[in-house]
Amino acid sequence: MKKILLVMFILFQVASFAQDEQKINIMELNYPEELSVITRSDWGWLPLENSKEEAKITKITIHHGGVEVSADKDPIESIRNLQKWSRVEKKWIDIPYHFMIDLEGKIYEARPINLPGDTNTEYDPTGHALIEVMGNYEIQEFSENQMKSLVALSVFLAKEFNVPVSDIKTHKDYSATTVCPGKNIYKYFEDGTFIKMIEAKVED
Ligand SMILES: [Zn+2]
Repeated sequence: MKKILLVMFILFQVASFAQDEQKINIMELNYPEELSVITRSDWGWLPLENSKEEAKITKITIHHGGVEVSADKDPIESIRNLQKWSRVEKKWIDIPYHFMIDLEGKIYEARPINLPGDTNTEYDPTGHALIEVMGNYEIQEFSENQMKSLVALSVFLAKEFNVPVSDIKTHKDYSATTVCPGKNIYKYFEDGTFIKMIEAKVED
């Protein structure tokens, strides 16, 4: 009887150890009142099945989706589809970006910020906070509301992780094989408009 109890005790220890191993650390952010963000639990994010090595954020990098999006398409459905595609087809742990911004400028949380993103191109996104503007900005126009959200989110992340303004860039700045985030967004980086808007708010 004593032996059986001992075996049961050991099995229990092993089982609880295995469960601890599976626990994935997810960093949750606290947003200021003026920054409205739709959280993972708000849109029905599926819990992670796999993890990867955590990394500290040292840069902020802007992307577009690269696929044209029409106003009548439900953005949450698109985000859920991207999550499925990323996990099933690409075998990534999750959506490759940490945040997504829709056509109206609404901000959604995606991959937890402590877990590095993924890319189809040759740069290493480890340490980059990745923000994706949904749509194709080689074709689509970038709206004022989207700009406001992109600036506000970048400012929040820059303050939260002490990212210097000089390390807020776009995908194209790290990769020669992409036009991402598209010319209609990139022009605001080229002429300095975007960085000026950020600098004004970071210094507040
Ligand atoms: Zn990109």
